[in-house]
Amino acid sequence: EIMNVNRSYFGSYSSFGIHREMISDKVRTDAYHRALTDNPSLLKGAVVMDVGCGTGILSLFAAKAGASRVFAVEASDKMAAVASQIAKENGLLCESKAEGSNECSGVINVVHGMIEDVSSEHVKPQSVDVLVSEWMGYCLLYESMLSSVLTARDKWLKPGGAILPDTATMFVAGFAKGATSIPFWEDVYGFSMSCVGRELVEDASKHPIVDVVDPQDIVTNAVVLQTFDLVTLKSEEMNFTATVELEPKFDASKINTGSESRTMWCYGVVLWFENGFTSRFCHENPVILSTSPYTPSTHWSQTIFTFKEPIALSSGKSKANISSPVGTEASPAMKLRLRISIARALEHRSIDIAIETTAI
Ligand code: SAH
Repeated sequence: EIMNVNRSYFGSYSSFGIHREMISDKVRTDAYHRALTDNPSLLKGAVVMDVGCGTGILSLFAAKAGASRVFAVEASDKMAAVASQIAKENGLLCESKAEGSNECSGVINVVHGMIEDVSSEHVKPQSVDVLVSEWMGYCLLYESMLSSVLTARDKWLKPGGAILPDTATMFVAGFAKGATSIPFWEDVYGFSMSCVGRELVEDASKHPIVDVVDPQDIVTNAVVLQTFDLVTLKSEEMNFTATVELEPKFDASKINTGSESRTMWCYGVVLWFENGFTSRFCHENPVILSTSPYTPSTHWSQTIFTFKEPIALSSGKSKANISSPVGTEASPAMKLRLRISIARALEHRSIDIAIETTAI
């Protein structure tokens, strides 16, 4: 079963479309490009390992930045072959100069295999100065390769060596009706098709949706759900429960006019993440890769978790019951307490997320 999941997972990475999508994600690729090429004191002469090299783009950046050796590790048969061809096309592939000789021309060694299975026969010297990987999945942890990166860190990174990125932070905020399908179906050429919107919201409450959220539809502050330090993170710490409080953020155009209380409906929460290439290793030019709704969008978009019923939030001036556009009545809360648990379902390369809400 695990084998099958892996086969289809690595199979999916052999389609060039996915690699084109990742490379074309300018926010993503520029962040890695800047981290690798604008920090010469980190990269010059360094031995680098690229975990899951795909086309080898990060290895090419590292080579260009002056790395003395780059181990580009890739599990997909197709992509490992492609990465070799690309490195060769750019004069950067390490190819034996003569039969039986240890000398080679370029600095990139493509290693075909799962990072977990790479042996010291492929990696000489036996440790690396810099470990780089683009491992992030939707909502940071869906389908993520983070545990493979931690395995590589523990096996191959020199003590005190650099890991890029070195931090990952998850954020959460509440969203309004505008981020759901309701508004679209409320007015279709002047007709109401609200029943469809209601059905879609009901469906959306059963599974997360990957989509871009307009910052105008965010109705609470954004709070940090979890911060991971990749230098010290242990695999089991990827399972966690965090409790956070969200406070309504009133915007003049979002206030429920008609009543004197400042009230609005929170239909669910949106999660996103940021990665830091912090000054700990990127002394010259630290970089942040953000997938926030407040910054230009990426191929990760954001991840939306819709509540079964919207929750009314108020500024606290009035506690009168109000009824929502979907018919529920509630007395508005001043804050929303969230308890979010994330657990890995390793065999499915997936995670389970449970969200409990308490209006307080
Ligand atoms: N570094 C490239 C590709 C990122 S996608 C880029 O930035 O564009 C992640 C890649 O990692 C995929 O090509 C996938 O096949 C590979 N991969 C995932 N898990 C791996 C593992 N355990 N060992 C080796 N490669 C892996």
